[in-house]
Order: sequence, then structure tokens, then C-alpha cells
Amino acid sequence: MPNKPFPSKRAPYYNDIPDEKWTDWRWQLSHRLNTVDDFENLFPLTEGEREALSQTGLFRVDVTPYFASLIDPDNPDDPIRKQVVPTEKELIPFTGMMEDSLAEDMHSPVPGLVHRYPDRVLMLITNTCASYCRYCTRARLVGDPTQSFSSQDFEAQLDYLRRTPQVRDVLLSGGDPLTLAPKVLERVLKSLREIEHIEIIRIGSRVPVFMPQRITAELTDMLQQYHPLWINIHVNHPNEITAELAEACDKLTRAGIPLGNQSVLLAGVNDDPYLMRQLVQDLVRIRVRPYYIYQCDLVAGAGHFRTPVAKGLEIMEALRGHTSGFSVPTYVIDAPGGGGKIPVAPNYLLSMSDHRIVLRNFEGFITSYEEPLDYQRPPKALTEAYRPKKSTGQEGVFSLLEGQSMTIKPEGFDRLHLRGGEQHRLRKDKNKWKALGIGDKEEDKEEE
Ligand SMILES: *Cc1c(COP(=O)(O)O)cnc(C)c1O
Ligand code: SF4
Repeated sequence: MPNKPFPSKRAPYYNDIPDEKWTDWRWQLSHRLNTVDDFENLFPLTEGEREALSQTGLFRVDVTPYFASLIDPDNPDDPIRKQVVPTEKELIPFTGMMEDSLAEDMHSPVPGLVHRYPDRVLMLITNTCASYCRYCTRARLVGDPTQSFSSQDFEAQLDYLRRTPQVRDVLLSGGDPLTLAPKVLERVLKSLREIEHIEIIRIGSRVPVFMPQRITAELTDMLQQYHPLWINIHVNHPNEITAELAEACDKLTRAGIPLGNQSVLLAGVNDDPYLMRQLVQDLVRIRVRPYYIYQCDLVAGAGHFRTPVAKGLEIMEALRGHTSGFSVPTYVIDAPGGGGKIPVAPNYLLSMSDHRIVLRNFEGFITSYEEPLDYQRPPKALTEAYRPKKSTGQEGVFSLLEGQSMTIKPEGFDRLHLRGGEQHRLRKDKNKWKALGIGDKEEDKEEE
């Protein structure tokens, strides 16, 4: 017996649309829903939804007929509906909310390029999406025609990449790169491929979820010329996994593109451990590997979607050990103020002594692991070739382990701890705080 097939849905309102239109992404794009009347053709709106849709200055609304058809018309709490139909709750401010909560525009050497990690960059190349998610982290840029990226911006991004050899991985995002005209996207991919030090290209896209019709043979033929190319899609709820999405993912993986999934943990949408277990299991059935679950960012308009972090930990507890290891994503909090993704997980390490550690598994079984007493690092000659020749300045906590530096200090630490006192006799000799053999390297100059 084969597995239960994934459903394919079309709201009754679209029953008379000929198949060749329904399956054409251009038709889907030009018939997106964005007004009270559009939505009410499919289901009655709540007072709050009507209020939000009548506001000016709201984050852009647009939903493809395909995606809107996944909404249960009789359920005002439908999890698909919550992701794309605005409510009055978006207008409520909350403590901690920001316009650019990840400080992306601060960590950006040229417009649209965010260089936060040593070896990879995020490259924003468009600000349009196939539909708009109410909790979008980049609502400040996305959906707003006045914020669009020019070819001048693109040239500046390329120029930065050409002169920054430490970048080996470029993540194309936006907005949604797969909404670009294929010619334009191809120009981006080609230009990146001409840069020798760029090893991999990634695309973050929700197009396969919002508009799977867009994944045509023509598109995959183009994409597969630019390997190694990886794609992350964005599915939040099992109801988004349809026959159409399965087919789109099949085309992409057959073109040799490994697929991952990023979900955002959203109150009222997917904040349940059993639901999430179903989601990750359905994803691997369509050959998409769960990659990240994001804690909802502190972005204006998304307050009602936030959950406590404990909810994410509960979900991770329900996944690890309970289902296939490759179905288990990493739960991350994208650091407010910049700093990138920080993984959080339940603790499996219970205790340790000098040569024994105590662990627990998902069942609560407690075990101990006897560590070797005579462990030696491999001889340097074996690993020397892999060491970077140059510091990126971002070695961080790892540099403490490597003995490259002894401490990491908050800004102004040394000055503060002078306490305004003078340079007295007990403070004169700086060498008394230097550990023998630690931080000898040129790159580890201390803050003066
Ligand atoms: C998420 C992100 C990346 C990629 O991070 P990975 O953990 O490698 O997937 C790169 N740059 C920025 C700014 C990001 O937000
Ligand atoms: S698809 Fe991504 S960029 Fe577009 S609205 Fe949704 S979260 Fe934002």
C-alpha cells in the first residue's frame, strides 16, 4: 500500500477557472487576493480582519488563489488564514518590538547585503513575494515598491563580494528571489558563479509553498546550471503540504537541488509538539529536510504570533529521539540587535566528573560515558593544512578553546575597571595578567 497522497484543493469560487489558467503561475500572481471583497468571495471575514484590511499603512496584503484555497472557510482560526490574512492585532504595539529587530541594515556594508558571519552573506535582491506573511521579519523592506533594489545596488553588492574572498556562501533572499523574472535571476546567479571564491549559492524561497505552479521545467533547467545550489523553502503547518507542493519539490530535487525547510514558531499556527512532529515527518516524505525552527522575531505587527521560548524547547523535546534524526531541525533565536542565530535545545548533559559524563536520553534513561584518560590531539602535521591562514576577527568563543585569547570582554571593560584610578605601582606591569602561552598571536591585541 502506498502512503496516503497529499491533498489538492481549490476553493469552490474558482471551480469555473479552466485548469490551464489555474496551473499557470502568471494567472495565480495576477489574481491574488488583497481586498475585503476578494477574501469574502472565499469566506466571511471577522470584524478584526475587516478593520485591518481597511487600514492604510498596513504591511502589504496579497495571497495567491492557490494558497487561499488551503484555508478552511468555516474556521476563523485556520492556521493558513492566520499566516496571510491581517487582523486588528497587527496594530497592537508590544515591549521589545523594533522595525529591524535583527539589525540587518546595521550589519550591511552595501544596501541589501548583510555580512554577519565570517564566511557567508545574506543578499537581498528583491522585495516582492508571491504572498505576504503577516509576521515577516523584513516587513520594513518587503512589499514596498519604494524600497526596491536597483541594478546599482546589485553592482555594489557584487563589487563587495568580489573584493571579499572570505565569503564562500551566498544566501539569496528578499523578498523572494523566485519571484524575479528568470532572466534577472539568471543574471544574478551567473554573476555570482563568475566569482571564484564563492563555493555555494543558496536561495530562500516561499514560492514553492505559495505558488508551486512557478516551479516549471524551464526554471529548474536554468537553476541546475548554477550548481552547487541549495534551496530552503518555508512551510509552517502540515496543511501547506499538498500534491502541488510535493510535485514542485520533486522537480527541484530531481534537478539536483537539496531542499531544506525553515519554519517560524507561531502562536495559533504551529505551537504544538504533535503538530510539529507531523510537519517534519510530512516534509521528509516530500524529500525536504527540516533545517530551522525560528523563534518569532521582535518585529512590529507580529506580537500576537509570539510564544515563550519554552514552547520551542517543548517541541524539540518531542522531536529528538521520537522521530528520524534527519527530521529534527535546529531551534534558533535570531539575536535581537544582531548577532545571528543562536541555537537553543533541551539539555541532555546532566553531570560530569574528571573523566565521566552523565547523560539522559529522550526517554529519561540515564547513562554514563567513560572518557579516555590518555587522549591526545592529532599531530599538528595532520591538520595544519586546514587551518585558516588569516584571522576573520570572529573566532569568538572558539578562540578561547584554541588558546588564542584568554577572555572576551564587553566594550569599555578595561576602562571601566580602572575606576578612574591612576596608573599606580601595582598596575604597572601588564605582563602579570598574561597567561603563559595564551594569546601570543599577533591578531589578539587587547583593548586599550
Ligand atoms: C540566516 C543567515 C545566514 C545563514 O545562516 P546559516 O546558519 O548558515 O543558515 C547568513 N547571514 C545572515 C545575515 C543570516 O541571517
Ligand atoms: S515569504 Fe519570506 S520575505 Fe516574503 S513575506 Fe513571507 S517571510 Fe517575508
